[in-house]
Amino acid sequence: MARGVRGPTRRDIIRSAAILPVVAQVRTRAPARAASLPVVIASANMKSPTESGGLNAVRKAWEILAAGGDPVDAVVSGVNLVENDPDDVTVGYGGIPNEEGVVQLDASVMDGRTMKAGAVGALERIKNPSKVARLVMERTNRVFVVGEGALKFAKAHGFAEENLLTERSRKIWLYWKEKLSGKDDWMPAGNEEEKDPDIRWYIEKYGVEDFRPQGTINCDAVTASGDIVGTTTTCGLFFKIPGRLGDSPVIGAGLYVDNDVGACGSTGWGEGNLRSCGSHTVVEMMRQGKSPEEAALKTLERIVAFAKDNRESSGRPKFQTVFYAVNKRGEYAGASVYDGAYGSTGRFSRAKFAVADSSGARLLETAYLFKKEKPSR
Ligand code: ASP
Repeated sequence: MARGVRGPTRRDIIRSAAILPVVAQVRTRAPARAASLPVVIASANMKSPTESGGLNAVRKAWEILAAGGDPVDAVVSGVNLVENDPDDVTVGYGGIPNEEGVVQLDASVMDGRTMKAGAVGALERIKNPSKVARLVMERTNRVFVVGEGALKFAKAHGFAEENLLTERSRKIWLYWKEKLSGKDDWMPAGNEEEKDPDIRWYIEKYGVEDFRPQGTINCDAVTASGDIVGTTTTCGLFFKIPGRLGDSPVIGAGLYVDNDVGACGSTGWGEGNLRSCGSHTVVEMMRQGKSPEEAALKTLERIVAFAKDNRESSGRPKFQTVFYAVNKRGEYAGASVYDGAYGSTGRFSRAKFAVADSSGARLLETAYLFKKEKPSR
């Protein structure tokens, strides 16, 4: 065990009770996750109970690293698989649009070797924002380009504009808009609409109560020689205010890399993470000797403590946030506020993350602060 790294003590748990609205029931410690380099970690991005986009991403990235490829190529190529996949409606092509029906994408990339970073926000009509963020990092002396400027920058680099709104995402957006209020001109088509396979797909995956879920992919890698990189890419909060940026493209919130220490990225409630500079905080805690899992859980506690505006009446958090953290030795963790979520059919999905190293690509369960209670129906 590294110097200064220890498991949570009774005092930790009592201390956490002082800052959390409700005592975290669990601070699970996963069995020690042994390091073997190169290693790649990512969010799970489950397409179905058995299919994970994150697993495809870490597998692809690890193969590039194992063949001696560039680590930024590795993580960006990994997440491109998910950006290109219309069945992942949280990222890239086919992403859920903003409140006006326009897909706006955000992404960030950071390279520990140079400590340079690039990011784009509210980028329209370009399906691989992670590639554009990489070019901001490599081909400008700036970090963050948004909106129309980001589109012009992408086009200057030869990216083709395309319609990112798939029929499925358009129908989901229209359904949301029609059901939003009885005080406007838009009316739902009733049961017929809910029989549409695309609407059913959405309701089964995300439920109707929380009709504004969100999602993202984060992917981080440590090479055989200990160099560290990461990327985060998303369509952001579903049906967001046009121009709204979450944590994903913000360096320090949705992604942070330090070549001496490690990397961290996030998925989940972006505003809470923005207010806590979460990924940077996790990396700083790892620098001070905490394991990736301890650092991620401690930072989640801070987000929960700050989230006075996003709690159930019982005081429990009303949101999910997940950190994916890896240190220079290749030790890694996924850690979440809740242990998982209940779908509309009452089926519980355990929160997971994806890892690839010399033992192969696999999904592992996250450590977590709270157990999700089954909703009463
Ligand atoms: N963090 C993303 C955002 O706030 C969304 C997510 O990962 O769920 O835009």
